[in-house]
Amino acid sequence: MKKELTKYGFVQEIFSSFQGEGASLSGSCYGLRQIFIRLAGCPLALGVCGTKGCVWCDSPKAQTLEPKFILVEKEAGGQEFYKIENPISVAQLVAIVDNLRTSDLHSVSLTGGEPLLQIDFAAELVNELKKKGYLLYLETAYTEDLLGLKRISNKIDYACVDIKDRSAQSAKDWKKLAEQELKMCKILQKSGVKVFAKVVISNKSTEEDFHYISSMCGKYQIPLVIQPVTPKKGLELKSPTWNKIKSFTEIAGEYLPPENIGLSVQVHKLINIL
Ligand code: SF4
Repeated sequence: MKKELTKYGFVQEIFSSFQGEGASLSGSCYGLRQIFIRLAGCPLALGVCGTKGCVWCDSPKAQTLEPKFILVEKEAGGQEFYKIENPISVAQLVAIVDNLRTSDLHSVSLTGGEPLLQIDFAAELVNELKKKGYLLYLETAYTEDLLGLKRISNKIDYACVDIKDRSAQSAKDWKKLAEQELKMCKILQKSGVKVFAKVVISNKSTEEDFHYISSMCGKYQIPLVIQPVTPKKGLELKSPTWNKIKSFTEIAGEYLPPENIGLSVQVHKLINIL
């Protein structure tokens, strides 16, 4: 008998676009066509680490835990949306993904918010998408539930783990948060996922923090991407200078081989697409 898909979850938006982050490192899907499922809710924004999330958050709408509606792209890449009500079932969501599938689709990106926050829903979603042959890309920043991550990690093909430095202000104790994020990298790597780490840097990022992050990535052999913060209205942090960017990539070079160090800019923001 066919098993019923029972899980419902909260999603903020679903659309087709191109992965705009990640440079050309192992684990990155930079420049490849993806369907983005932006799951709702972010534990960091909810204050689990003592702050209200990253000061430069580029998807603040996805911080809401249970949004009333989901924005669904009408046609793949059309950037026009209709609304449906949350919560959504896994079966409904997979049908939407099927509908947005294009001949050049590389993978489905599970992003957020934080896609691991609704772990039971994510686990069933990952299973169903895998059964249909989709490659899966996970964009994650934090979960307390490492067992939950282990449950789904063997179904994920690519992953980007955001590691926050002190300037992101994502936690009162930034190093404790970074340690957890590095553990997540290890779990994904052990499961055979092509994983890389991404650090958003700003004019306030310090060499001390970056030495720590780079040394840990070097120790675990996790490729590391540096991404200058994208300026936005009201954000006090500024993009780092060119001198700062290259001094940081050179710090990374003290711990990692050159092929595992990259510079990423948010290309989708530059060309004004989703
Ligand atoms: S982890 Fe992601 S969604 Fe949460 S506050 Fe930071 S950037 Fe925003």
